[in-house]
Amino acid sequence: MKYISTRDTSIRYTASQAILQGISAEGGLFIPETIPQVDLDFISSLCNLPYHQRAQKVMALYLDDFSEQDLKACTQGAYLGSFEKDNPAPVQKVGDLSLLELWHGPTCAFKDMALQMLPRLVSAARKNLGDHRKAVVLVATSGDTGKAALEGFKDVEGTGIVVFYPANGVSQIQRLQMATQQGGNVGVQAVEGNFDDCQTGVKQLFADERLAARLAEENSYLTSANSINWGRLLPQIVYYFSAYADLIGSGELQLGEKLNVSVPTGNFGNILACYYAKRMGLPIGKLICASNRNDVLTQFLTTGVYNRNRAFHLTNTPSMDILISSNLERFLFHLFDEDARVVSYCMYRLNEGGEYSVTDEALARIQEEFAAYSCDDAQTLDTIRQLHDSTGYVMDTHTAVAVNAYQQYRRATGDTAKALVVSTASPFKFADSVLEALQQEVPQEEFACLKKLAACSGLAIPSGLAALRQLSVRFDGTVRPQDIEHALIRMLGRI
Ligand SMILES: *Cc1c(COP(=O)(O)O)cnc(C)c1O
Repeated sequence: MKYISTRDTSIRYTASQAILQGISAEGGLFIPETIPQVDLDFISSLCNLPYHQRAQKVMALYLDDFSEQDLKACTQGAYLGSFEKDNPAPVQKVGDLSLLELWHGPTCAFKDMALQMLPRLVSAARKNLGDHRKAVVLVATSGDTGKAALEGFKDVEGTGIVVFYPANGVSQIQRLQMATQQGGNVGVQAVEGNFDDCQTGVKQLFADERLAARLAEENSYLTSANSINWGRLLPQIVYYFSAYADLIGSGELQLGEKLNVSVPTGNFGNILACYYAKRMGLPIGKLICASNRNDVLTQFLTTGVYNRNRAFHLTNTPSMDILISSNLERFLFHLFDEDARVVSYCMYRLNEGGEYSVTDEALARIQEEFAAYSCDDAQTLDTIRQLHDSTGYVMDTHTAVAVNAYQQYRRATGDTAKALVVSTASPFKFADSVLEALQQEVPQEEFACLKKLAACSGLAIPSGLAALRQLSVRFDGTVRPQDIEHALIRMLGRI
C-alpha cells in the first residue's frame, strides 16, 4: 500500500515514510492510494476480540510494511495499561443515547487514543527504514493535542517534542497539564494569539528550508503529531469499528444495520476517521458534524462555501475553536475524485483570500454523507444540564455539542436510525463549565472545581488530573506569533 499526497499524486511513499514525514513537502497531506475494503465477516470477527487486537486487525490493512510482531507490540503498548478501563473506548448507554467514551486515557481527552499509538508507530517506522535521525515532533495545539502528544512522546528514544499553544485559548487545567510536563525531551511554549496563529506559525516552520538544512546538520528533522499525520488518523478509524462491534455484541445493532454518528468537530480529524471507516465498508449512515459558535464547517457542509474571514470566538469548547480545519483537505481530495490540482487550487484560494467554494453537484455529494449543526455556549450548557436531569450522566462541553447536534438532526430529519455520539473529553477536563451547566457555584481555584464536580457527579477525579497539584511549573512566559521560530530554536538547544 502506497501513500500519495492530496496535492501531488505522483508522490508514492510507504506507510513508514508517510508517518515519519508527517506532511508532504509541497504542503499536501498523505492519503492511502486505495482504501482497503472489509466485509461483514471481518466486522463480526472483531466482536470477541479485546480492543488492542481489534486495533491490530484494522491497522494492519494500512501498514503493510510493518511486521506483524511490531504492530502487535505497538497496539499492546498503546492500549494495555495506560487507560483506566479494560476497553479504552467503551460505549456507554445513557437514556436512549449511545456515547462512545474516548477519554479514559492519561490526559482525559480522546487525543490519547491516537497519541498513545503514534510514538510507537514512529519508532517502528524508524526501524523499518533504518533511519537514525532524531525526529523532532512539532505540535500546534488548541489544548488537548499538546498534552496528549507530550505524554505519548516523553522520553521516547530518538525523538524530541516541542508544543505551541495559544496563551488565552486553553483552559486552566489544560495550561497546567502542559506547563508542568515532565520528560527530558520536551519543550512547551505559550503564544500570544489564537490556535490558528499557532497552527500557521508551525506550518511555516515545516516549510522553512533554511531551518530544515540546519536541523539536517544536527542529524535531526521536523515531523508532525497534529492530526494531519496519517499515523494519528489511522488509530482513530479503529474505535468506530470497535464501537460498532460492541453495539452488535450488546444486541443494540444487527450486523449490517446502519449507524449514524455525531462527532464534535474542530480540525476534522475525528469525523474524517469515521468517513474512512465508512468507505472501508463499516455500515455508517449519516456523519453528523457538530460545531460550536465557530461554525465554519457547518457553513461549508450546508452551503458549499468555506470562508474563514469571520470573527473568531473563544467558547466553552476550546478544543473546537478553529477556523481552518486541516483535515478537510483529505475529504476534498476524495470529493474531487482524487484530483490534486483542484485540491491545490482550493488550498491556494484559502491561503490567499480565506475562501473557496464547491459546485452544487459537489455539495449534493457532500450532503449524502454529512449533516452539520452548531450550537452556542448557552445551548451547550443547557444540553449538559438536561441530560444530567434526565439520566444523572455528566458529560463534558465538547460531547454536549455533539449531543445537541444529534438532537437537531433528529428534529430536522426525523431519521430515527440508531446513533452513536462521540464523547471526546472527561467532564473533569472542563470542570468549571460543567459546574456552571449544573447550576453550581464555580470555585475560583481549579482543584476546588475538580473536587466539587466529583461530589456533584459521584465520579472520581481522574488520576492524571489529581496529580497535577503536586507538580511544579516548568514552562512559563509567552512569545508573539512572529517569534515562534526563535522560540523553537531556543528549545531545540535543550531537548
Ligand atoms: C481535538 C478535540 C476535538 C476536535 O477533534 P478534531 O479531530 O480536531 O475534529 C473535540 N473535542 C475534544 C475534547 C478535543 O480534544
